[in-house]
Parts: sequence; C-alpha cells; structure tokens
Amino acid sequence: MKVYGAPAEGLQDAMRLSAAMTRKLAVAGIPLGGGKAVIAVDEIPSGEQRRALFLRYGSLVASLGGTYRTSSDMNTGEADMDVIGERTEHVFGRSVGAGGAGSPAPPTATGVFHGIRASLSHVFGSDDLEGRTVLVQGAGGVGSPLAEHLAGAGATVLVADIDPARAQQVAARVDGAAVPADEVLEADCDVYAPCAVGGSLSSETVPRLRCRIIAGSANNQLADPEAAELLRERGILYAPDYVINAGGAIALVGLEQLGWSKSELAIALAGIGQTLRDIYKEADAHGISTAAAADFLAEERLKVS
Ligand code: NAD
Repeated sequence: MKVYGAPAEGLQDAMRLSAAMTRKLAVAGIPLGGGKAVIAVDEIPSGEQRRALFLRYGSLVASLGGTYRTSSDMNTGEADMDVIGERTEHVFGRSVGAGGAGSPAPPTATGVFHGIRASLSHVFGSDDLEGRTVLVQGAGGVGSPLAEHLAGAGATVLVADIDPARAQQVAARVDGAAVPADEVLEADCDVYAPCAVGGSLSSETVPRLRCRIIAGSANNQLADPEAAELLRERGILYAPDYVINAGGAIALVGLEQLGWSKSELAIALAGIGQTLRDIYKEADAHGISTAAAADFLAEERLKVS
C-alpha cells in the first residue's frame, strides 16, 4: 500500500513487483507463480477507514477464487492480513493467533544473513563475520533482526535510518554505531545491506560506494540497468535482491501452504546462501553481472516448471 503520484505509477510498480515475485519463487524452487497487488491510496489510512479498505480488498481477493493469494509488504502488516482473512482464506501472513505464520520480516532477515555469509565467502574466501563491518540501511522489521544476527556472529554493525532515534536504538542494542542516513553510500564497510527502500543503486550512486559487497533485503535495488554492470566493473559483489530477500516468501508459503516444519524452513532459508554461491560462480564463469546470472537462472527454472 502506497501513495503514488498517478495511477499509472501504481500499475508500473505492481508489474515490476510481480515480475520480481515470479523470479523470486522460481529461483527459490517454490511451486507457485508470482503476483503482487498494489493498493494506491491518497494517504495511508488508519482506524475504521483502514479496516474498511482491507475488507474491500479481501472481497476482491476472494473473488479470484484462490488463483491469487495476497500478503503484506510496504505499509501493511499482520493486523491488516487478519482483516483480509475475514473475507478470504487466500491470504498469507496473518498473525499466529489468527492461524497464520506471522510477520515475514524475521525469516527475511535470516535469509539475508545467510546471503551475506555466502557473499563474504565468495569475496574473502571465508564467511567469518569476525572483523567485518556491515552497514544496515533501515532499522525496521528486517534490518533490526538482521543487525542482531550479524552482531551475534561477531560483525561490527553500523545502522542508518531516516529516523535517527531508531538507528540509534538498534545500534545501541547490537553494540554498533549509528550512521547518518545521507552518509550511507560513502561509508567504509565490507558489506552494505540495503534494508529500507529500493532504487539505491544507479549509475550515479555506484561510483560513490566504498563497500565490497551489497547484500540486503530491499526490493528493486537497481535503479537502472547499467548499475549491475557498473558494480561488476568496480569489483563490488551484488547479491541480487529477489534472491537474497526471498526468506519471507519462502517462510509464508512453506509454513502456511506446504506444511513445512520449522527445521524444513531453516534448511530452505540456508539454501538462499547456496543459491547465491551458484549464481556468483555462473556470473564469474560467463563474465556477466550477478543480476544477469540470477535472471538467467530464473528464466531457466521458469522454462522447466
Ligand atoms: P520497515 O518499514 O519495517 O522498515 C524500513 C525502515 O527503513 C524504517 O525504519 C524506515 O524508517 C527506514 N527507511 C526508509 N527510508 C529510508 C532511507 N532512505 N534511508 C534509511 N532508512 C530508511 O520495512 P521492512 O519490512 O524492514 O522491509 C525493508 C525492505 O525490505 C523494503 O524494501 C521491503 O520491500 C523489503 N522486503 C521486506 C520483506 C519482509 O519480509 N518484510 C521481504 C522482502 C523484501
């Protein structure tokens, strides 16, 4: 749910997000197609207005008869999914109390953590986080548990957020340091983990980066197609967004639809690291960007499924 400048922008976003979801599920080996809905609003609603909107949306999803199952993303959460659940069973991510698997953010963070380790291993020959510095951009649902995983494994964690108090709070919790939100790109670090907004990687921003690896949860991180190639030329390893941020989708589908146990989920989340290792090897072998290698893998999987 988002405020868009014009309806066409919402449609374009829905198409881009749907394409990414299709690739995400294909690469993760989940036996479902990808789709995404966008609710374009004049302002983010609250109270009764919000409830009425999600009931209406729930009826729309119900009318699709299970060909589309919805879930939460930007500006929506478990409570909204519970409201949708009053109209349709075709909703992922309801609260545990309402029979769902809860927020996808913690498993997304776990998947990103595995992805960061795989990326370190590819660049430095070891996935050890001791002595490594990771900058987490966005101290929210994903960034906050990610910071904890990283600190727990011995990394020095830097945290940036447009809400400086939030950055400070998470940084203090993990014995790290807060970084001003507008100094993220030039910050010295081993890993830059974008866990806030998409579009941070462009032909304008890539030359300013001082990290060795980009590995974070934000959707649609590449603002323009040249950015992926520029990253390759600069020797900065990029973990393709829809591969590394698949943990939430994997968890919701696995736990709610495929009947997985917690240990089956843990194995699938660790698999994100292996998938990235494979993508990095393919990219190196063919002299292409990691984004191109991921797209290639997705297209291959879509052909056979
Ligand atoms: P969130 O809303 O819980 O947290 C985002 C945080 O980023 C907030 O604290 C916000 O203040 C901060 N932020 C916003 N703009 C910023 C900026 N320019 N610089 C620094 N901080 C900024 O969101 P989330 O659930 O943690 O998701 C983070 C990103 O990961 C989003 O792009 C989301 O689409 C993507 N993602 C999330 C999931 C999930 O399971 N939650 C799954 C896949 C992808």
